Amino acid sequence: MLIPLGHDGLVVRDEPWIVMSWAGIGSFDARCERRACPDDVLFNGPRGCTEDYPRSMIGTADQVIRRSVFDWLTDQRAEHGEGLPRSILESFELKGQRVPLMGPSGIWKPAACELPISVSTVTSGPYSDTYDDLTQTLRYAYRGTDPLHRDNRGLRRAMLERVPLVYFHAVARGLYAAAYPVFVVDDDPGALFFSMQVDDLAAALTAAGSGHMIAEDEGEPRRAYVTATFRRRLHQVAFREWVLRAYRESCTLCRLHHVPLLDAAHITPDSDPEGEPLVSNGLALCKLHHAAFDSFFFAVRPDYTIEVRPSILTESDGPMLVVGLQQIHGQKIHLPHRAVHLPDPARLARRYEEFTRAS
Ligand SMILES: [Zn+2]
Repeated sequence: MLIPLGHDGLVVRDEPWIVMSWAGIGSFDARCERRACPDDVLFNGPRGCTEDYPRSMIGTADQVIRRSVFDWLTDQRAEHGEGLPRSILESFELKGQRVPLMGPSGIWKPAACELPISVSTVTSGPYSDTYDDLTQTLRYAYRGTDPLHRDNRGLRRAMLERVPLVYFHAVARGLYAAAYPVFVVDDDPGALFFSMQVDDLAAALTAAGSGHMIAEDEGEPRRAYVTATFRRRLHQVAFREWVLRAYRESCTLCRLHHVPLLDAAHITPDSDPEGEPLVSNGLALCKLHHAAFDSFFFAVRPDYTIEVRPSILTESDGPMLVVGLQQIHGQKIHLPHRAVHLPDPARLARRYEEFTRAS
């Protein structure tokens, strides 16, 4: 049974249809059928029949909004860091018109846009990952269970027309990491989720040419790489937010309380297979103490006592050496309130062994 969707549906110009079947629902371009594409295109979208999918048919105004949003988000990240508060994301304006980038539902289409502008995760934290290693894609659940829900149709159309979106992943309560441009690359009506990939903004624009925000098929390896990179950035951002919050946004050694000057340091390095982004594998340290910690100028013993390298203790230099390094020797670090956030003594012990070998 074929049901044309008309102007509110998938396609206007190229006679696309929605196909209803026992297996669920998929979508395809009528031109694919003429060119005898494999059946799986019905459910696999652009991956199954890449060159036959129509180019973007959204209007210029919508494309201008998306491009402006990407530039604006880049500025916001430079100003506020990688974790962006929801209040900022809801404040975006273009030519005096407010265009909130997030709304009450995860799939969000502002009134000014023809198609959804963003998708956002509901859960937060470093463990709410929805990355699929096998396909190197981000999985995003349908809104509800109805594949024909307006929001799901909107994302499906974004997939068919290769319209770029923003992906917001909550890294802490009310705080989001943003990835853009993100393309919907697959639709799984059986499992009720879409697959998405992040692209490199400059490369996507170059590939698209003429300023059109369209993903090119040869960009797939690039998108897989960028998506994997985003996932790592997501973990780092979440780790930083969680660690700094656990330590009440101050250095665990010197109590410095300026967030731009603070880092979340790994006890077991993240390059180590056991260097998971757990708060118990972190210490909130100011920039100076982070660098000194990484260079084994000091260590934190498993009983949370600071031990400074003997050669540093006997050195003579200015006040920074005295106050910043020599006087912290023998002190206890300032600990998080929650027991689950305490630095893992076993990790500190392993780190201390390396410190003694390096000293
Ligand atoms: Zn410090």
